[in-house]
Amino acid sequence: MKYAKNILETIGNTPLVQLNKVTKEIDALVLAKVETFNPGNSVKDRMAVKMIEDAEADGRLKPGGTIIEGTSGNTGMGLALAAIVKGYKLICVISDKQSKEKMDILRAVGAKVVVCPTDVEPTDPRSYYSVSKRLAEETPNAWYVNQYDNPSNAIAHYEQTGPEIWEQTEGKITHFVVGVGTGGTISGVAKYLKEKNPNIKIWGIDTYGSVFKKYHETGIFDENEIYSYITEGIGEDILPKNVDFSLIDGFTKVTDKDAAVYTRRIALEEGIFVGNSAGAAIKGLIQLKEHFKPEDVVVVLFHDSGSRYVGKMFNDDWMRERGFLEEEITKAEDLIKE
Ligand code: PMP
Repeated sequence: MKYAKNILETIGNTPLVQLNKVTKEIDALVLAKVETFNPGNSVKDRMAVKMIEDAEADGRLKPGGTIIEGTSGNTGMGLALAAIVKGYKLICVISDKQSKEKMDILRAVGAKVVVCPTDVEPTDPRSYYSVSKRLAEETPNAWYVNQYDNPSNAIAHYEQTGPEIWEQTEGKITHFVVGVGTGGTISGVAKYLKEKNPNIKIWGIDTYGSVFKKYHETGIFDENEIYSYITEGIGEDILPKNVDFSLIDGFTKVTDKDAAVYTRRIALEEGIFVGNSAGAAIKGLIQLKEHFKPEDVVVVLFHDSGSRYVGKMFNDDWMRERGFLEEEITKAEDLIKE
């Protein structure tokens, strides 16, 4: 018989899929690492389990303990699956910008969800950084995960995602393009790939309203770069320890509108139903098109599933209200006239 002993054993070994239409302007082979195939529907399952197992191993997380994390949803989902299988409680602290679907899904897998305002300074006691830290201090037998600075996050991608991409491309990968939030995915994958072949170029996708691109180019943490934005999962107003800027060759920034429009285009043109940061990654990749040659093998990573954005980027009214969708609604009388 061939079966997994629990759901956690099904994490990883996600497919690499050629993109045929949405990147047709790119003169290279473009392959998407589709992380939706993980049981929690995102890449974050990998690092969630790794962070828990490393914390168990060195005693930070004790039997029956409570896991606490400030998470935009995907990490929470990965932690929730692991918490169920391994017998822990989970509290997710989430910002009010995140989609309702993400919050409902977390509750469905047993997490307690605490919602915090987005438009406050990280040092504000209501910010999700502050609330998660406080809960971790006040809850007995708690462990605060801190995916931003927890080295196990990037290590998971060094041990799993990087080797999978290397093997799937038979070492032919020339460029890796990926959205950056905590930095775990880009840094772990980049470290592995550059050890195998230092010529592989690593590009980070950033968003307007985030500090990464400017910091990478100038070494300056510029607070003027920080303002609220709509794109989910990427960009930060802090410098997480998991972003290893020395491994990254460059960043490009993508607008909220472009990220949203391209999220829909991936679904419509490729039949791959993925989340908002995938849209940003594809638009960013197109912005970088002069960097690619016909013989190049470009891998882009799709972090999560489109199902978490059905009330947002996949909702026509939501798109229209923000000026992201120009098409008019077809009214009954228009059809009768024709
Ligand atoms: N996309 C989505 C949808 C995410 O949830 C995240 C994690 N914040 C990222 C991209 C960025 O990944 P990482 O944190 O590994 O940089």
